[in-house]
Amino acid sequence: MSDPGLTPDGPQPGSTKRTKIRRIPDRAVTSPTVRDEVLDAGLVAHVAVIDAGQPFVVPVAYARSGKEVLFHGSSASRLFKTLADGQPTCLSVTLLDGLVLARSAFESSMNYRSVMVIGSPRLLEGDEKAEALRRISDHLLPGRWSDIRPPSDQESKATIVLALSLDECSVKVRTGNPEDVPEDLVDPNFAQVWGGTVPLTESFGTAVPDEFSGGIQAPSYIETWTRS
Ligand SMILES: Cc1cc2nc3c(=O)[nH]c(=O)nc-3n(C[C@H](O)[C@H](O)[C@H](O)COP(=O)(O)OP(=O)(O)OC[C@H]3O[C@@H](n4cnc5c(N)ncnc54)[C@H](O)[C@@H]3O)c2cc1C
Repeated sequence: MSDPGLTPDGPQPGSTKRTKIRRIPDRAVTSPTVRDEVLDAGLVAHVAVIDAGQPFVVPVAYARSGKEVLFHGSSASRLFKTLADGQPTCLSVTLLDGLVLARSAFESSMNYRSVMVIGSPRLLEGDEKAEALRRISDHLLPGRWSDIRPPSDQESKATIVLALSLDECSVKVRTGNPEDVPEDLVDPNFAQVWGGTVPLTESFGTAVPDEFSGGIQAPSYIETWTRS
């Protein structure tokens, strides 16, 4: 019998014991496509590292490449060295889509799309490492790589590049209106309180040149940058 958690895009999000969403399971999403869309829309991931028993959560730039998440850090970083040694980690990416205003504090919430990935990262070297650095740049700054100086050998040595497989991950999404308790909706005071959602979007502002850019036109690719 084929594994019901296995899709042509790899194991389904939430298909392992450790990643099955138990709390409000109707917010669980099993589509690898939605997972990839969230990862492709985000700019910052948070990666967990335990050092001497103390957990740390490190914000990092990242990119998705097929069925892996790529991220980098300083070779001098104690935390990155720990990850490069193969310590298991958890990486999460969250897109905040709005605030949800209910008639009670308890039911007030947030609309979001959230991906959590667990596993042990793989240290990238050589061509794979160089390609991963380009991909991370392309994700954050599409169009920029061909304009700028690529990393020197020294700079590359100063950088640890890691890949974390998406084989074990989960996706949780909340959308829609508040879910007020019925009593609040007929309560003489609280039924008069406005409820609903306030969407939240991230967007780029107008590019601001630095002091060395006098007279140089801002690159046209910046105009194509959008956030969703
Ligand atoms: C922007 C935002 C704000 C939130 N605010 C709160 C808050 O204030 N209080 C609160 O209790 N919860 C909040 N949540 C939900 C929170 O992330 C957890 O889903 C929730 O606390 C349930 O945790 P649990 O360990 O009981 O989940 P369980 O369902 O028992 O977790 C089982 C597995 O489900 C997966 N999983 C759990 N949560 C997520 C997730 N968010 N994204 C992807 N996979 C997940 C993991 O693989 C985990 O191992 C928020 C989520 C987001 C994205």
